[in-house]
Amino acid sequence: MERTIIVGGGHGGAQAAVSLRQEGYEGEIVLVSDEAHLPYHKPPLSKTFLKAGGAAQLLRPESFYTDNAVELKLETRVAEIDRRAGLVRCDDGAAIEFSSLILATGASARRPPIAGADLENVFVLRNMSDAERMRAEADDASEIVIIGGGFIGLELAHTLVGLGKQVKVVEMGQRLLARSVAPVISAYVLDRLFAADIDVRLGAEVRGLEQAGARAAAVTLAGGERLGADMVVLGTGAVPSTGLAEAAGLAVDNGIVVDHAMRTADPRIFALGDVASFTHWQWQKPARLECVQNANDQARHAAKAITGKETDYRDVSWFWSDQGSTKLQMAGLSMASDRTILSGSPENDDLAVYHFDRDRLVCVETVNRPGEHMLARRLLAAGITPSEADIADGKDALKALLGGPAQGRSA
Ligand SMILES: Cc1cc2nc3c(=O)[nH]c(=O)nc-3n(C[C@H](O)[C@H](O)[C@H](O)COP(=O)(O)OP(=O)(O)OC[C@H]3O[C@@H](n4cnc5c(N)ncnc54)[C@H](O)[C@@H]3O)c2cc1C
Repeated sequence: MERTIIVGGGHGGAQAAVSLRQEGYEGEIVLVSDEAHLPYHKPPLSKTFLKAGGAAQLLRPESFYTDNAVELKLETRVAEIDRRAGLVRCDDGAAIEFSSLILATGASARRPPIAGADLENVFVLRNMSDAERMRAEADDASEIVIIGGGFIGLELAHTLVGLGKQVKVVEMGQRLLARSVAPVISAYVLDRLFAADIDVRLGAEVRGLEQAGARAAAVTLAGGERLGADMVVLGTGAVPSTGLAEAAGLAVDNGIVVDHAMRTADPRIFALGDVASFTHWQWQKPARLECVQNANDQARHAAKAITGKETDYRDVSWFWSDQGSTKLQMAGLSMASDRTILSGSPENDDLAVYHFDRDRLVCVETVNRPGEHMLARRLLAAGITPSEADIADGKDALKALLGGPAQGRSA
């Protein structure tokens, strides 16, 4: 019996089913998802979904799963992996044997230990049910406080202010997105929030939520300030959903530990996407990335490994975030960066930050420069490092580097 079970119907899980068939896999594929919906696009949930109404956009139409013999078990949770018996047990009582198992269980919202964080008008945003609940509540809310200034919280701030709400963001750090972007971009993002009439408190510690019956009425800060709220959103990050793997004795260290082909120490079991911890080729240290690119590309590599065409995961990481009308895009990893070059200017709403590790290009962050983002991805994939003059000359010079011989600039 050849059967691959995929646990999790998010971006990575759905792509794994697609890629397995594309790689010619002829065994059975069973995709088990605890959500009620067919796999859908998550990024719009903090952007257009709240505004536009209607249903989420599906990753693939329903016919894809029937045409490709992918059995979907929705609203079903895998409760246990029995490695000795080579099967998973689901919460509906089913026990399903596997020859290969893919864990694409993603991440769940981090709930900080704040008094009142479980009150009924306190929300997190990880999936469509969260977004639907939030949309219903937001209709009647006028004052909304978002705790945490990460990508999702800030996207939501723009979306909710666009719906006519008064929005405040409370961030503990001294700058926004401090672990993800260069200071000049943090400052630009802050400026855009202010320009949209969003109140942002940096260096602000939340003491607790003031309770009125079963609801939060305000967020109180360590300094004593009270921010009135009829809706509170926790945008305080995510934790990888590693419970199944841990219980099955697989190595977990800020994510399920996998090798270059997304395989755990058990050769039948793979993990990918938000839940996987792997050695990133650029950084040479364990990394866990929360972005669509990583989930999709890792799914492609897992499918190759399962079909006997093992490859190294060395794809260029990339990510985007829409902050109101601002398009932020990142290619590569900035963790290894020790030097940056700025191109463009915040005043013109058009800039890029090139990050270098010694002489090697490792990451490019762009604001409203989608064309340059695409070029950056190609430069990183080809191992080409542009000079300061190339960067100053802009897109044509970068294109020329890709078109012609790299002439001493290859890293
Ligand atoms: C609101 C929001 C906005 C985002 N915006 C962007 C963006 O702009 N750009 C970008 O690159 N990325 C964005 N992301 C991140 C991106 O969506 C994730 O990185 C991506 O979804 C990861 O895919 P995944 O398959 O690893 O996990 P997920 O897509 O989260 O899927 C995991 C699935 O597994 C299910 N599951 C977990 N445990 C079990 C179990 N035991 N049994 C059955 N099912 C289980 C979960 O319910 C979930 O459906 C955003 C995420 C969110 C939540």
